[in-house]
Amino acid sequence: MGLFDLFKPAWQSSDREKAMEAIKEIDDDEMLKKIVIKASNQDVRKEAFQKMEEYLREDTVKEITDEVFLKELVLTEEDYGIRIEAVRKIKDKTFLKEVASNDTDEDVRLVAAIKLTNPQDFNCKKCGVSKANLDKQNYEKEARLKQMGTAGFINMSGRGLLKCPKCGEIACDKCALDLPGRSEKSCPFCQETYIWGSVIK
Ligand SMILES: [Zn+2]
Ligand SMILES: [Zn+2]
Repeated sequence: MGLFDLFKPAWQSSDREKAMEAIKEIDDDEMLKKIVIKASNQDVRKEAFQKMEEYLREDTVKEITDEVFLKELVLTEEDYGIRIEAVRKIKDKTFLKEVASNDTDEDVRLVAAIKLTNPQDFNCKKCGVSKANLDKQNYEKEARLKQMGTAGFINMSGRGLLKCPKCGEIACDKCALDLPGRSEKSCPFCQETYIWGSVIK
């Protein structure tokens, strides 16, 4: 045991076994989340991630910055929501290229392809609105709602751009076509129905 271990919680111990034992005792999801984000040992991090409530995992991924762990999630996780959030955080272009061409899931491939270009440069091919502009509108709308104290009560989902998984063209949510009786939309250029990964973040 290292000298500094005396001042650390057990999950931060440099002794892997001791750290792993400590995780077994922790049930608090906020604590598990903190461990996933901060642990230096990959096994400890993985253990804490597996232990947390499933519905909290996706949100936790949004705060992870360790690329080694993010890559592992992309390659080993079964939940594709988690895999997509992990791809969204990864910066390594070589890895993203690999995912964009070889991943088994269409959504995951699409998100990796979007990441390889700078999303801020995207425009709707029909009306010309840019991603930067929509983000600004969303931000201002949210700020107004917050001022009115109504944030959180009104549907906050802002406007955005979609990239067609089939023809690759980009359309905004207003130019995308509504599908009668369904919540999905389709591509105004080739009529393909958008998949979840089509949203450009
Ligand atoms: Zn448009
Ligand atoms: Zn299309």
